[in-house]
Amino acid sequence: MLGSGGVDFVNKPVRQEELNHRVRAHLTHKFQTDLLLKLTYIDKLTGLYNRHYLAEELMKFERQAMRSGLELSVLMMDIDWFKPYNDSLGHLQGDICLQQVADVISGCLHRPADAVFRFGGEEFLCLLPDTNIHGAKHLAETMNKAIADAAIAHPTSPLGRVSVSIGLSCYPENTKQSLQATIKAADAALYQAKQGGRNQVCG
Ligand code: GH3
Ligand code: MG
Ligand code: MG
Repeated sequence: MLGSGGVDFVNKPVRQEELNHRVRAHLTHKFQTDLLLKLTYIDKLTGLYNRHYLAEELMKFERQAMRSGLELSVLMMDIDWFKPYNDSLGHLQGDICLQQVADVISGCLHRPADAVFRFGGEEFLCLLPDTNIHGAKHLAETMNKAIADAAIAHPTSPLGRVSVSIGLSCYPENTKQSLQATIKAADAALYQAKQGGRNQVCG
């Protein structure tokens, strides 16, 4: 029984007090383990998955896409003019802005398999299984508009509000290599979006 996944057993006749203690001990252990896992994989500021979790999950996403034969889109987002935002409004307000942007992105994702990660300081990465480049473009434009609608004031941006640039790439469409290479391609597309004037989607 223990070999097939059980963690404990009680002998009959069951003593109520002993059973209560054992159940409580196992529940406490499970709660603590889940909490530790959460602390390991979740970015404390935004509540999104962190970069460490991305590294853990990448192979799974890649294998699943290979297995299903369905495209997996990668969306790399970066907040525009964020350094001047911090410089003018302070880092605490910068942190609040990061939380607001994270909430807006999460609110745009509706499929259970979609995942969003805080990739760097003010960079976010979405992995979108079973989504081709057209679907990813549509979603990226939706996110861009949702950020515009959120109208987060940014006094030192030419737009006067927070905006984002987004780079897209699709696995395995844009590259015959690994999902890691697709992420690189999305990053290159993000660079193009910045070069093209920011507040736009490229890829
Ligand atoms: P660009 O439009 O080209 O993206 O310009 P930028 O100013 O957004 O880009 P840059 O990469 O130069 O600046 C990123 C800034 O993000 C640097 C730092 O001030 C800010 N930043 C990074 N991590 C955090 C964080 O956890 N909290 C806060 N408040 N700011 C952060
Ligand atoms: Mg950046
Ligand atoms: Mg930036």
